[in-house]
Amino acid sequence: MNNVNIVDLYRKRFTVSIEIFPPKTEEGEKNLWRELSRIKKIDPGFISVTYGAGGSTREKTLDIALEVKNNMGITPLVHFTCVGSPRKEIESFLNMVKDNKINNIMALRGDPPAGHDTFKPHPEGFAYANELVEFIRSVNGFTIAVAGYPEGHTEAPDLETDIVNLKKKVDAGADLILTQLFFNNNHFYDFMDRIEKAGISIPVVPGIMPITGLKQITRINDLSGADIPPELMEKLRCCDTEDQQSEAGIEFSMRQCSELRDWGVPGIHLYTLNRARAALKIAEHVI
Ligand code: FAD
Repeated sequence: MNNVNIVDLYRKRFTVSIEIFPPKTEEGEKNLWRELSRIKKIDPGFISVTYGAGGSTREKTLDIALEVKNNMGITPLVHFTCVGSPRKEIESFLNMVKDNKINNIMALRGDPPAGHDTFKPHPEGFAYANELVEFIRSVNGFTIAVAGYPEGHTEAPDLETDIVNLKKKVDAGADLILTQLFFNNNHFYDFMDRIEKAGISIPVVPGIMPITGLKQITRINDLSGADIPPELMEKLRCCDTEDQQSEAGIEFSMRQCSELRDWGVPGIHLYTLNRARAALKIAEHVI
């Protein structure tokens, strides 16, 4: 059960999945395995492992995905970006993933490296994720997830254009869409309406980041530009302590996920930031 096609999971049950990132230090890694051993009890459908900016964690991403698969017995989803990589290197990474019997891959273009405003493709690489998806599709047997943006990607002129580009990834062979985090479900419902009209019919799974405090949500807002409901900000500001903020934030995320489940999403992908507490509370509430 540690190498299932992740799309099949959604046909069988409402699926909660988890995103983690490769820690930079030994202490961070110890903490990750401790937190994941707690998360295991909610039986996540899969665990996705991010790929560091500019390919900085390539080996680490694969190592962690392998531990998730072999030691925890959970299916991993390996993230991969085409930043700075020629086709040959991409092909050798894909072969390495395949040789390790991992069949689920998240195909991403990636962000421009720090200090650069625009994405510059490698001269022998790919400019957009749809090209990467097409390439991965030619290497047999991968289940391919791609990113979707309910509030539009930051570089896209508008949501409509971004959805036209999302459709290119689907037409190139993507099997599943995992979304960018959002805090206002109305953006997701509008997105779903638009992508249905665009003829996209593969599963779309909302990505939710549990809220754990005012500082965290302000930082996330700076990074992603996600719309934050004013009543949530108000609630967090009224808390006297960080613990109270955390309780109020997690309660908001639990309600957000329940509402999405009632609306009919096939699952929830939780951005855990390598911490178990909020993810456990949300998963227990929503499963
Ligand atoms: P694309 O789909 O290529 O889109 C990028 C931009 O180009 C968009 O504005 C789009 O509208 C436009 N576009 C797309 N195709 C075309 C085309 N054919 N012609 C013209 N314009 C086009 N980053 C990491 O570094 N590591 C990770 O592990 C990681 N995981 C992520 C997981 C999720 C669920 C999400 C939502 C994002 C993740 N990211 C990760 C961030 C992601 O790399 C960035 O958002 C990046 O800027 C875009 O990647 P993409 O695959 O969505 O790109």
